[in-house]
Amino acid sequence: TAEVTPISEKALNSILEKNRAYYTQGKVADYIPELGKMDAKAIAFSVVDKSGKVYNTGDVSKKFTMQSISKIIALMIAVNEKGEANVFDKMGYYGTDKPFNHFGNLETMGKPLNPMMNAGAILTTSLISGDGEKPFVKVLEMVRYITKNQSIDYSKSVYESEKATGHRNRGMFYIMKNSGLISGNEDQLDNYFRQCSIEVTAEDLAKIGYFFANQCTRFDGDITYKNAETAKLIESQMLTAGMYEFSGEYSRTVGLPSKSGVGGGITVSVPGKMGIGVFSPSLDQHGNSFAGYHMILDLVKQYGLSIF
Ligand code: GLN
Repeated sequence: TAEVTPISEKALNSILEKNRAYYTQGKVADYIPELGKMDAKAIAFSVVDKSGKVYNTGDVSKKFTMQSISKIIALMIAVNEKGEANVFDKMGYYGTDKPFNHFGNLETMGKPLNPMMNAGAILTTSLISGDGEKPFVKVLEMVRYITKNQSIDYSKSVYESEKATGHRNRGMFYIMKNSGLISGNEDQLDNYFRQCSIEVTAEDLAKIGYFFANQCTRFDGDITYKNAETAKLIESQMLTAGMYEFSGEYSRTVGLPSKSGVGGGITVSVPGKMGIGVFSPSLDQHGNSFAGYHMILDLVKQYGLSIF
């Protein structure tokens, strides 16, 4: 699919303005109390093109927590350390028809469905080596590396809020500990809560999308982590489970590997080409950014970006 018109900030801005009002149709996540404080009207749209050039529009300096988008970074690290076969011996490559915090097949199959839902993601983070906070620090450092943004840190207040209220996640952690899938202590669950609380901008998300779209090559051409197989694995997980139970319809309408988070961000990989990052904290019933989805949809239609 050839790009008809080159991407420009003006083009992104008109897509943003067209979809701005969608926030009224969704709802800011408040099951993690601290997230409920987010400004529902905030909206940002970012693209990194094939050459690594960044295009930004909207509230691009606005920070928000990565939430589930951190799951793809943790998966990359766990697979790099343990090998794909060892990680996927403990969980499936399945899609889902259930929400992200569903216990899924933990009881019936004895394993999480995939590393994108909470159960699989909590398990994935527990597989990263190191005691205490070390696995989390690896995730944080990887996000800083991919975005080339050393100022990235995590929100202690969102972390504390999620730790205090994340009883479903704690339940999953202990079911997996009971069955022997998880061998460590609750520090490992805390690392999951911390990685979800890493704060980024839409531009950072576009750079993450670019990284996986380009065989784990950074937007500035750095090839320290270049690995076509890892990128294929992450992108396939994003495509089949990155938008939870909406993933099937999303792959029909958008047709690109994407990962959402309940902080309102979505990172998108256009394989071999660009990265897209969107932010709007008002969510649909699946926990995906309402306006974010519509901005991606319009960009994809306008530039013919679907992989299908
Ligand atoms: N931290 C969130 C949770 O575990 C992540 C969920 C999400 O972004 N979909 O509930």
